[in-house]
Amino acid sequence: MKHPKEEITFVLIKPDGVRKGLVGEIIKRFEQRDLKVVALEMFQPTHEQIDNHYPKDGAWITRLGQKTLKTYEKYGVDPLAELGTNKDVEIGKMVRKWLVDFMVSAPLVKMVVQGIHAVDVVRKIAGPTFGYQAEMGTIRGDFSIDSPLLANKEKRAVMNLIHASETPEEAEHEIEHWFGKGFKVHSYKRYGIDE
Ligand code: GDP
Repeated sequence: MKHPKEEITFVLIKPDGVRKGLVGEIIKRFEQRDLKVVALEMFQPTHEQIDNHYPKDGAWITRLGQKTLKTYEKYGVDPLAELGTNKDVEIGKMVRKWLVDFMVSAPLVKMVVQGIHAVDVVRKIAGPTFGYQAEMGTIRGDFSIDSPLLANKEKRAVMNLIHASETPEEAEHEIEHWFGKGFKVHSYKRYGIDE
Protein backbone atom coordinates (compact mmCIF):
# COMPACT_ATOMS: atom_id res chain seq x y z
CA MET A 1 0.00 0.00 0.00
CA LYS A 2 1.15 3.52 -0.83
CA HIS A 3 2.26 5.89 1.95
CA PRO A 4 -0.72 8.21 2.75
CA LYS A 5 1.27 11.23 1.51
CA GLU A 6 1.79 9.53 -1.86
CA GLU A 7 -1.82 9.16 -3.04
CA ILE A 8 -2.17 10.69 -6.50
CA THR A 9 -5.11 11.90 -8.57
CA PHE A 10 -5.67 13.19 -12.08
CA VAL A 11 -7.00 16.67 -12.91
CA LEU A 12 -7.88 18.28 -16.25
CA ILE A 13 -8.57 21.99 -16.49
CA LYS A 14 -11.41 22.12 -19.02
CA PRO A 15 -11.79 24.63 -21.90
CA ASP A 16 -13.82 27.08 -19.77
CA GLY A 17 -11.14 27.02 -17.03
CA VAL A 18 -8.39 27.79 -19.54
CA ARG A 19 -10.43 30.43 -21.40
CA LYS A 20 -11.46 32.19 -18.17
CA GLY A 21 -7.78 32.53 -17.25
CA LEU A 22 -8.15 30.31 -14.18
CA VAL A 23 -5.17 27.99 -14.69
CA GLY A 24 -3.10 29.66 -11.98
CA GLU A 25 -6.04 30.07 -9.59
CA ILE A 26 -6.97 26.38 -9.86
CA ILE A 27 -3.41 25.19 -9.27
CA LYS A 28 -3.17 27.59 -6.33
CA ARG A 29 -6.22 26.02 -4.68
CA PHE A 30 -4.51 22.62 -4.63
CA GLU A 31 -1.14 23.95 -3.52
CA GLN A 32 -2.58 26.05 -0.70
CA ARG A 33 -4.23 22.90 0.67
CA ASP A 34 -0.78 21.29 0.93
CA LEU A 35 -1.26 19.10 -2.14
CA LYS A 36 1.67 18.82 -4.55
CA VAL A 37 1.54 19.18 -8.32
CA VAL A 38 3.79 16.35 -9.52
CA ALA A 39 3.12 16.54 -13.30
CA LEU A 40 1.73 19.38 -15.44
CA GLU A 41 1.20 20.19 -19.13
CA MET A 42 -1.00 22.24 -21.51
CA PHE A 43 -2.02 20.45 -24.69
CA GLN A 44 -4.69 20.26 -27.41
CA PRO A 45 -6.53 16.92 -27.09
CA THR A 46 -7.81 14.94 -30.06
CA HIS A 47 -11.43 13.88 -30.35
CA GLU A 48 -10.29 10.26 -29.97
CA GLN A 49 -8.31 10.94 -26.78
CA ILE A 50 -11.36 12.56 -25.17
CA ASP A 51 -13.66 9.83 -26.42
CA ASN A 52 -11.40 7.25 -24.75
CA HIS A 53 -11.12 9.31 -21.56
CA TYR A 54 -14.83 9.19 -20.69
CA PRO A 55 -16.28 5.74 -19.97
CA LYS A 56 -18.29 4.08 -22.73
CA ASP A 57 -20.09 1.48 -20.62
CA GLY A 58 -23.85 1.43 -20.39
CA ALA A 59 -23.87 2.00 -16.63
CA TRP A 60 -21.92 5.30 -16.87
CA ILE A 61 -24.01 6.55 -19.80
CA THR A 62 -27.25 5.62 -18.05
CA ARG A 63 -26.12 7.41 -14.86
CA LEU A 64 -25.39 10.54 -16.92
CA GLY A 65 -28.89 10.42 -18.42
CA GLN A 66 -30.48 9.79 -15.03
CA LYS A 67 -28.85 12.94 -13.65
CA THR A 68 -30.65 14.99 -16.29
CA LEU A 69 -33.94 13.19 -15.68
CA LYS A 70 -33.66 13.92 -11.95
CA THR A 71 -33.06 17.61 -12.62
CA TYR A 72 -36.02 17.73 -15.02
CA GLU A 73 -38.26 16.04 -12.46
CA LYS A 74 -37.18 18.49 -9.78
CA TYR A 75 -37.95 21.53 -11.94
CA GLY A 76 -41.02 20.12 -13.71
CA VAL A 77 -39.46 19.95 -17.19
CA ASP A 78 -40.76 17.39 -19.71
CA PRO A 79 -37.72 15.53 -21.15
CA LEU A 80 -39.70 14.46 -24.21
CA ALA A 81 -40.56 18.04 -25.12
CA GLU A 82 -37.08 19.33 -24.28
CA LEU A 83 -34.83 16.59 -25.71
CA GLY A 84 -37.16 14.43 -27.81
CA THR A 85 -36.72 11.40 -25.52
CA ASN A 86 -37.28 10.38 -21.92
CA LYS A 87 -34.93 7.36 -22.01
CA ASP A 88 -31.93 7.66 -19.69
CA VAL A 89 -29.55 5.84 -22.09
CA GLU A 90 -30.49 8.11 -25.01
CA ILE A 91 -30.08 11.26 -22.91
CA GLY A 92 -26.79 9.93 -21.53
CA LYS A 93 -25.46 9.39 -25.07
CA MET A 94 -26.52 12.92 -26.02
CA VAL A 95 -24.76 14.47 -23.02
CA ARG A 96 -21.63 12.39 -23.65
CA LYS A 97 -21.43 13.68 -27.23
CA TRP A 98 -21.82 17.31 -26.10
CA LEU A 99 -19.11 16.65 -23.53
CA VAL A 100 -16.61 15.33 -26.09
CA ASP A 101 -17.32 18.29 -28.42
CA PHE A 102 -16.78 20.71 -25.54
CA MET A 103 -13.55 19.12 -24.36
CA VAL A 104 -11.82 19.50 -27.74
CA SER A 105 -12.91 23.15 -28.14
CA ALA A 106 -9.72 24.64 -26.57
CA PRO A 107 -6.41 23.49 -25.07
CA LEU A 108 -6.58 21.72 -21.73
CA VAL A 109 -4.19 21.54 -18.81
CA LYS A 110 -3.51 18.06 -17.44
CA MET A 111 -1.89 17.43 -14.08
CA VAL A 112 -1.23 14.88 -11.41
CA VAL A 113 -1.81 16.03 -7.85
CA GLN A 114 -0.35 14.21 -4.87
CA GLY A 115 -1.03 14.26 -1.15
CA ILE A 116 -3.14 13.04 1.74
CA HIS A 117 -6.44 11.65 0.39
CA ALA A 118 -5.64 13.47 -2.87
CA VAL A 119 -8.58 11.92 -4.75
CA ASP A 120 -11.27 12.94 -2.25
CA VAL A 121 -9.70 16.26 -1.29
CA VAL A 122 -9.35 17.41 -4.91
CA ARG A 123 -13.03 16.54 -5.56
CA LYS A 124 -13.96 18.49 -2.42
CA ILE A 125 -11.92 21.51 -3.53
CA ALA A 126 -13.60 21.26 -6.98
CA GLY A 127 -17.16 21.10 -5.60
CA PRO A 128 -20.14 19.23 -7.08
CA THR A 129 -20.74 18.84 -10.83
CA PHE A 130 -23.27 21.64 -11.24
CA GLY A 131 -21.91 25.10 -10.44
CA TYR A 132 -25.24 26.44 -9.19
CA GLN A 133 -25.19 23.78 -6.46
CA ALA A 134 -21.53 24.26 -5.49
CA GLU A 135 -20.71 25.99 -2.20
CA MET A 136 -18.69 29.20 -2.20
CA GLY A 137 -15.10 28.33 -1.38
CA THR A 138 -15.01 25.52 -3.93
CA ILE A 139 -13.53 26.12 -7.39
CA ARG A 140 -16.87 25.53 -9.10
CA GLY A 141 -18.77 27.53 -6.47
CA ASP A 142 -16.46 30.53 -6.71
CA PHE A 143 -16.07 30.70 -10.49
CA SER A 144 -19.07 29.04 -12.19
CA ILE A 145 -22.86 28.83 -12.03
CA ASP A 146 -23.89 26.53 -14.88
CA SER A 147 -26.88 24.18 -14.70
CA PRO A 148 -28.03 21.17 -16.75
CA LEU A 149 -31.33 22.95 -17.44
CA LEU A 150 -29.50 25.67 -19.35
CA ALA A 151 -26.75 23.48 -20.81
CA ASN A 152 -29.23 20.92 -22.20
CA LYS A 153 -31.34 23.72 -23.69
CA GLU A 154 -28.21 25.00 -25.44
CA LYS A 155 -27.26 21.41 -26.45
CA ARG A 156 -23.85 21.53 -24.75
CA ALA A 157 -22.04 20.07 -21.74
CA VAL A 158 -22.33 21.70 -18.35
CA MET A 159 -19.27 23.93 -18.00
CA ASN A 160 -17.62 23.35 -14.66
CA LEU A 161 -13.96 24.27 -15.06
CA ILE A 162 -12.25 20.99 -14.12
CA HIS A 163 -12.39 17.24 -14.27
CA ALA A 164 -11.02 15.24 -11.33
CA SER A 165 -10.87 11.46 -10.86
CA GLU A 166 -13.51 9.96 -8.61
CA THR A 167 -11.56 6.99 -7.16
CA PRO A 168 -7.88 5.95 -6.84
CA GLU A 169 -8.53 3.23 -9.47
CA GLU A 170 -10.00 5.78 -11.89
CA ALA A 171 -7.03 8.07 -11.20
CA GLU A 172 -4.58 5.30 -12.06
CA HIS A 173 -6.42 4.54 -15.29
CA GLU A 174 -6.67 8.22 -16.30
CA ILE A 175 -3.02 8.98 -15.47
CA GLU A 176 -1.97 6.09 -17.68
CA HIS A 177 -4.28 7.32 -20.45
CA TRP A 178 -2.99 10.91 -20.38
CA PHE A 179 0.63 10.53 -19.29
CA GLY A 180 1.47 7.06 -20.63
CA LYS A 181 2.14 3.64 -19.14
CA GLY A 182 5.54 4.33 -17.61
CA PHE A 183 4.38 7.47 -15.78
CA LYS A 184 6.49 8.53 -12.81
CA VAL A 185 5.71 11.50 -10.57
CA HIS A 186 8.20 14.36 -10.42
CA SER A 187 9.40 13.77 -6.91
CA TYR A 188 10.44 16.66 -4.66
CA LYS A 189 10.27 17.59 -0.98
CA ARG A 190 7.82 20.41 -0.26
CA TYR A 191 8.85 22.81 2.50
CA GLY A 192 6.52 22.44 5.46
CA ILE A 193 5.02 19.19 4.19
CA ASP A 194 7.86 16.76 3.59
CA GLU A 195 10.52 18.32 5.80
P1 GDP B 1 -18.03 15.14 -12.70
O1 GDP B 1 -17.34 13.89 -12.24
O2 GDP B 1 -18.37 16.06 -11.57
O3 GDP B 1 -17.27 15.87 -13.78
O4 GDP B 1 -19.43 14.72 -13.36
P2 GDP B 1 -19.90 13.47 -14.26
O5 GDP B 1 -18.83 12.44 -14.38
O6 GDP B 1 -21.23 13.06 -13.75
O7 GDP B 1 -20.17 14.13 -15.70
C1 GDP B 1 -19.14 14.41 -16.59
C2 GDP B 1 -19.34 15.79 -17.17
O8 GDP B 1 -20.50 15.79 -18.02
C3 GDP B 1 -19.61 16.89 -16.16
O9 GDP B 1 -18.44 17.41 -15.59
C4 GDP B 1 -20.34 17.92 -17.02
O10 GDP B 1 -19.41 18.68 -17.80
C5 GDP B 1 -21.16 17.04 -17.97
N1 GDP B 1 -22.53 16.79 -17.48
C6 GDP B 1 -22.86 15.99 -16.44
N2 GDP B 1 -24.19 15.91 -16.28
C7 GDP B 1 -24.72 16.68 -17.27
C8 GDP B 1 -26.07 17.00 -17.66
O11 GDP B 1 -27.06 16.57 -17.04
N3 GDP B 1 -26.24 17.82 -18.73
C9 GDP B 1 -25.18 18.33 -19.43
N4 GDP B 1 -25.44 19.13 -20.48
N5 GDP B 1 -23.90 18.06 -19.09
C10 GDP B 1 -23.67 17.24 -18.03
